[in-house]
Amino acid sequence: MKTPVITIDGPAASGKGTLAKRLAEKLGFYYLDSGAIYRLVALKMLQAGLNPDDELAAAKTARDFISGFDASQIANPDIRTQQVSDAASRSSRFSGVRSALMEIQRKVAHTPPTPFKGAVLEGRDMGTVVAPEADVKIFLTASPEARAQRRTKELLSRGEKTTYEAVLQDLKERDERDSTREVAPLRPAQDAATVDTSGMDADAALAHVLDLVRKRLTKTA
Ligand code: C5P
Repeated sequence: MKTPVITIDGPAASGKGTLAKRLAEKLGFYYLDSGAIYRLVALKMLQAGLNPDDELAAAKTARDFISGFDASQIANPDIRTQQVSDAASRSSRFSGVRSALMEIQRKVAHTPPTPFKGAVLEGRDMGTVVAPEADVKIFLTASPEARAQRRTKELLSRGEKTTYEAVLQDLKERDERDSTREVAPLRPAQDAATVDTSGMDADAALAHVLDLVRKRLTKTA
């Protein structure tokens, strides 16, 4: 039987990370944070003193990274800074980077590690490029102001020095870059359900999406 796959795409700080993780836990599915993989490549570039706008260097870093990748690297807290967010949205626009990182993402989608019964893939192009055959596709969004508020709170709680205005500006720039790039731009898949979480807390978003997922998975079973 085909492994069930759920994709959750959306702009930065739309709440997709928290939602995808909790959804995966509820369903007993593997959770893939694809943004973390792009962030790890960006971190490697910054550590090596490379410019994330340098296409050849970005593609080479991604290829080298894949050969030594292990999933525990995703827990590295250094990938969560604003500097790495910015660098990731720059280096991820290159096709050489995206194609190098494609295989590990597709592998998880088709054969999640034991004992997981399916996969929840979270990112920007999960439903459009990585797993267009997914059983359920969600496009999660929220107003830039609601997203900036959430992200500011999160960064301050981790001790990073920032302001709401700086975070809002950063989110708008990243959204613009992610949505207008030539390769795998951020956009809802044609068959995705769009969920606006501006007025919802994390519990309400989970309940709403869980209901949607259960209905769709029952239909496709
Ligand atoms: O999801 P997150 O905000 O952690 O992703 C960081 C950056 O990585 C995004 O701004 C985006 O440029 C890039 N990314 C991407 N494709 C994905 C996931 C993330 O291009 N599937």
